[in-house]
Amino acid sequence: MKTFYIETFGCQMNAHDSEKVVGTLLHQGYQKVETPEEAELVFYNTCSIRDKAEQKVFNRLNQFKKDGKGKTFAVLGCVAQQEGEKIFEKAPHVSLVCGSASYNKLPELLVQLETGNRRVTGLSLDTEDTFETPVTRRDNPHRAYLTIIEGCDKSCAYCVVPFTRGPERSRTSASVLSESLELARAGYTDIQLLGQNVNSYRDPSPAGWDFATLLDNVGRVPGIRRVRFTTSHPRDFRKSIIDAIDQNTALCNHVHLPVQSGSDRILAAMQRLYTREEYMERIRWMKAARRPIAITSDIIVGFPGETDDDLAATLGLLDEVEFDAIFSFKYSRRPNTPALALDDQIPEEEKTRRLTIVQEHQRNIQIRRNAAYLGSVEECMVEGFNKATSQWIGRTSQNKTLNFLRPGRDEDVTGRYLDVRVTRAGPNSLVGEAVN
Ligand code: SAM
Ligand code: SF4
Repeated sequence: MKTFYIETFGCQMNAHDSEKVVGTLLHQGYQKVETPEEAELVFYNTCSIRDKAEQKVFNRLNQFKKDGKGKTFAVLGCVAQQEGEKIFEKAPHVSLVCGSASYNKLPELLVQLETGNRRVTGLSLDTEDTFETPVTRRDNPHRAYLTIIEGCDKSCAYCVVPFTRGPERSRTSASVLSESLELARAGYTDIQLLGQNVNSYRDPSPAGWDFATLLDNVGRVPGIRRVRFTTSHPRDFRKSIIDAIDQNTALCNHVHLPVQSGSDRILAAMQRLYTREEYMERIRWMKAARRPIAITSDIIVGFPGETDDDLAATLGLLDEVEFDAIFSFKYSRRPNTPALALDDQIPEEEKTRRLTIVQEHQRNIQIRRNAAYLGSVEECMVEGFNKATSQWIGRTSQNKTLNFLRPGRDEDVTGRYLDVRVTRAGPNSLVGEAVN
């Protein structure tokens, strides 16, 4: 029996792809180990969204250039797709390079490896298939990822994803619902629907469901108490999604809607396909919902040509929306992307300065917003226990981390739903005490 180790970089899509890869390998008779040193086969599931992420895998591979003898190395995911056979030149000890659109072929590729082939590739993007498998090995016993759509048909000027994950492919609604039912039967209560752009989900079967219909139906699966989804693209985000959240309390009142910039000029240069006003229209739908919807976003600073006025427009948007949280990034030049050809690249130190301005601005907004929860009672799904602080770690429907004490009761409540009164609020999390 062969042993394998896998390390995953990047987004939730990658984390879930690895769960499917692990399931496939176990099903093929491989045995999972916890360190690369113990393993015969070492897999890196990689991310290339920013240059730094891409460098990480080459750093890892370099560590084993000399003392990796007897081991087989495999590079999966976005760097595999982007760099292809060039990886064999950069890291000659690698034997398998496979992009996410070829994971269905992994069993065949493993056979090729076992028969001694030292240069095995799965790099075709020409597929209508999604990677579906009944043998997924999930890391968490309560919260499950579930892919509904793979690939991306947008062409945001900065982004490698369309080149690394290929064109959009949606799963049938029947297959998504049957996986949801199985998850509920296995005791999962929380499902996170995944895709690079979940809003452009289109059921390929005759039922022809759109995303809002699929979301609502997953939220109606008996036993499922929470459904989240990520990521949404503003252009394809319909009001019917908010109507579904209004009507179905199993759908979490949290929407992650990446805006990237508050400046129309930069949004156009980024080829984002919406204006600031169109984005704000979607924010108004959310603010008018029956339950308060937490709104989070992604921001890129230092896109080529971004001026101080453009940055000021982004800060103004942060004030106008008052996001509950943002992920903010310095623009990173990526291979193949349209933005590579743009003049007026912003120097690295200036990008760093702008990132700090954005993060400090948003921090103050979060301090204000989170303070509004003081004294309120929030339902938390308990994710674990922090021994260092003796606090339980909870997550609210709005996706806020709420760490709490449960004085006098010491049974394990991981995976349960408890009501917690908020007693303290910081910029990134809340603190409280369980009321049940
Ligand atoms: N599909 C999603 C969307 O449309 O928002 C997210 C894709 S990406 C994994 C997540 C975030 O990374 C993006 O929203 C963007 O803010 C950031 N990102 C993507 N390419 C980037 C680049 N070249 N430089 C910096 N940040 C980038
Ligand atoms: Fe990248 Fe844009 Fe597609 Fe998101 S929508 S994955 S940012 S190209």
